[in-house]
Amino acid sequence: MRNIDHLYIDGAFVKPHGSERLPLVNPATEEVLGHVVLADKEDARRAIAAARNALPAFSRTTKAQRVAILERLHAAVIARAEPLRDATIQEYGGPVSRASWVSQYAAQAFLDAARTLQAYEFERRVGSATVVMEPVGVSVLITPWNSSAGSICSKLAMAIAAGCTTVIKPSEMSALQTQIVAEAFHEADVPAGVINIVNGRGDVVGTELSTNPDVARISFTGSTGTGKIIARQALDTMKRVSLALGGKSPTILLDDADFEKAVPAALNIAFQNNGQACIAGSRLLVPRGRLTQVVELAQAAVSSMKVGDPADPATTIGPMANRTQFDRVQGYIRRGLEQGATLVAGGPGRPRGFDRGYFVEPTVFANVGNDMAIAQEEIFGPVLCIVTYRDEDEAVAIANDSAFGLHAYVFSSDVLRAQAVARRLEVGRVAINGMRHDPLAPFGGYKQSGVGREFGPFGLESFLEAKTIMAA
Ligand code: NAD
Repeated sequence: MRNIDHLYIDGAFVKPHGSERLPLVNPATEEVLGHVVLADKEDARRAIAAARNALPAFSRTTKAQRVAILERLHAAVIARAEPLRDATIQEYGGPVSRASWVSQYAAQAFLDAARTLQAYEFERRVGSATVVMEPVGVSVLITPWNSSAGSICSKLAMAIAAGCTTVIKPSEMSALQTQIVAEAFHEADVPAGVINIVNGRGDVVGTELSTNPDVARISFTGSTGTGKIIARQALDTMKRVSLALGGKSPTILLDDADFEKAVPAALNIAFQNNGQACIAGSRLLVPRGRLTQVVELAQAAVSSMKVGDPADPATTIGPMANRTQFDRVQGYIRRGLEQGATLVAGGPGRPRGFDRGYFVEPTVFANVGNDMAIAQEEIFGPVLCIVTYRDEDEAVAIANDSAFGLHAYVFSSDVLRAQAVARRLEVGRVAINGMRHDPLAPFGGYKQSGVGREFGPFGLESFLEAKTIMAA
């Protein structure tokens, strides 16, 4: 049993003022792994005060000092890659390959930020003026449970590169992963008050953080619904808010794609991170005349996927992260059936052989109308909707017929053709012929998938204010 009963404030692990205990549940077994004691508003205020006190000195540190801090943070997190992987498996149900990648990704964020910082000019001439880029101030970083350490580290890395002090509010359901990164940050010898971490509920701690006048900036990753609440709460004090939100990303198979390769790849894109990925390609758009072929290939791909113990290297899909998620995914599978979509793989209930754990069947629906709830709403589980299109123009129109605009995928044997389609899509990022990531390129959503961009110079500037100075 693990008991997480400390917050990290002003360079020390301290007892929370809050007293609520939340059980931490292993989603593969439904066993209670331990408890986390949650912070309350008073704890949040303490953390903000520590960040505020640390700001004057930290905002004046040099590039070289901050690069050194980022390098120490990288070393401290990479040294904990194994425990972080194990916690991700145990607490979240992330399959071992994904959980191993996440630990590396979390640590790497600090080196990517150091590279960005080194290349960035904080002062430039614009017309007759000198423009100075200054740290925005105390920054609150609010993160989700589906990518806990990665979100914490990538946001923190950019805030530190910019010279901002921080209060991190991770998901209350990720306390084991949070504890490991907190220990790493403590070991990295960062000045006290630059990093503060409060486990707590969104409607308690999150509300204090998004309304407190001493907070200048909020970097949020989570659902679109919560993002809207935070944006409203932050308005009165005009906080700088960036929101990385949900998605319903299309994968477009153009008629000249290699379907034998593209369909299994599209399934992996849809079901990555157990389907609980903001960038999951959860709508598969295929030429109308090729539906039968796509369905057969999709069925073969699903039958080769192994659902099960996330610690088993052969597992491709682990359990949903919690009971609420399990119920949510089951609800959408039932709605798909009610609305007349054709089930071609998976379906309701646990997979055969499972009588506990939040496991769901990887599920594929064909004959999905793009106006159905399963095609419009973020399910956040391994459920793929196949929608057919008549021609390229209709494929683009269907792809763009969404409240979301986070990501898209295009498959074609003609990269120039795929790029032309990519330019017509209302999304923040398009990957051609597979999953791609560039840690320095901007990441964020169009429409209700968010506001602002993370990573690289775009991400760094989101933690900076521009000051214009003009002399007579
Ligand atoms: P969520 O919105 O429920 O919670 C995210 C965080 O917000 C948690 O720390 C939560 O405690 C906090 N929160 C909740 N209510 C709050 C409030 N009123 N004020 C302040 N904070 C509050 O999201 P989740 O279920 O943890 O994560 C899944 C969602 O995150 C999905 O929609 C997914 O698409 C999205 N996501 C987006 C990205 C991206 O980069 N666009 C990345 C990962 C996840």
